[in-house]
Amino acid sequence: MSNSPSQRATLERWLSGPRVGGVPVPEHNAPAPLLSFEFFPPKTEALEQQLWACIRRLEPLAPHFVSVTYGAGGTTQARTHATVARIVAETTLTPAAHLTCVGASRGEIDDIARQYWDAGVRHIVALRGDVPGGGAYEPHPDGYAYAADLVAGLKRVADFEISVAAYPEVHPTARTPLADLDNLKRKLDAGAVRAITNYFFDNATFLRFLDLALAAGITAPIVPGIMPVSNYAQIVKFSAVSGVKVPDWLGRFFEGVEDNVETRRMIATVVASEQVRQLQANGIDEFHFYTLNRPDLTFAIAHILGVRPRGE
Ligand SMILES: Cc1cc2nc3c(=O)[nH]c(=O)nc-3n(C[C@H](O)[C@H](O)[C@H](O)COP(=O)(O)OP(=O)(O)OC[C@H]3O[C@@H](n4cnc5c(N)ncnc54)[C@H](O)[C@@H]3O)c2cc1C
Repeated sequence: MSNSPSQRATLERWLSGPRVGGVPVPEHNAPAPLLSFEFFPPKTEALEQQLWACIRRLEPLAPHFVSVTYGAGGTTQARTHATVARIVAETTLTPAAHLTCVGASRGEIDDIARQYWDAGVRHIVALRGDVPGGGAYEPHPDGYAYAADLVAGLKRVADFEISVAAYPEVHPTARTPLADLDNLKRKLDAGAVRAITNYFFDNATFLRFLDLALAAGITAPIVPGIMPVSNYAQIVKFSAVSGVKVPDWLGRFFEGVEDNVETRRMIATVVASEQVRQLQANGIDEFHFYTLNRPDLTFAIAHILGVRPRGE
């Protein structure tokens, strides 16, 4: 019996197509990677409850640290402080408080840092920050102009552990990619001990960034920031501002399921776990998750990475 044209086409495809191996799964006794989780401070009582449910669900995974974002201005500042203080008081977690240069003098920022130190907070994520509502950044006349200045200032206040931001796809206002790398090096030379990256979807870009950083003399850990995406439209908007490329294939994955939250969340888990598995296979053993105060995707992806709740 002869093959039909479609059977012949299938055979031809099998015989001539590329052979792609699966991403290897680490040995069962390989050490689990280190994780950190990022939260944002809640604005309402309902969001507060959501955040704390998220913290309680992720706490047994014993992350390296959990960080809380910061917005310039009195009320958001106070929310970050309250959240971080509660993490210190009520959990076994090690918090890292984000702090920015925006809208405050050096003295005011130093005071906030001192309050953190007195509350038992030893880890700060030091950032320049952005102007609320958008617009060009102008340093405060008496403020720290850039994150590198803030790192040096914090180190004068107390011996904080300091993390800083890094951009595998280059910060949108950097003069050149090299200038951006120089800036990262300045932040580390000023006393930061690790960089956490903005999220990205192309692992090759991140791995190339690691090579470039090493060539620039940067040897501190650069921890990939992982954003599990379940809302495609939102991430496109977000990424346009932060200079992150959103690949077309990601858009195709979400076509036609805009109204189906459950399917979107399943897709998010598959995409992000593929991403982290591939990074893990490339030797990356530390990951920072942008949780958006929702634990399930992060929990599932951590599980796939081999991270198990304490005591299991
Ligand atoms: C992990 C992570 C966490 C974040 N958390 C927050 C948060 O909690 N709150 C918040 O508001 N934002 C946050 N951001 C966003 C961040 O504040 C913005 O991306 C901001 O635009 C840059 O901050 P930076 O610390 O990287 O700045 P910097 O390192 O100061 O760099 C900012 C830009 O200025 C350039 N530059 C640096 N020094 C100089 C100089 N001397 N002269 C000229 N150009 C210079 C750099 O190349 C870069 O383009 C976070 C980002 C990341 C990646």
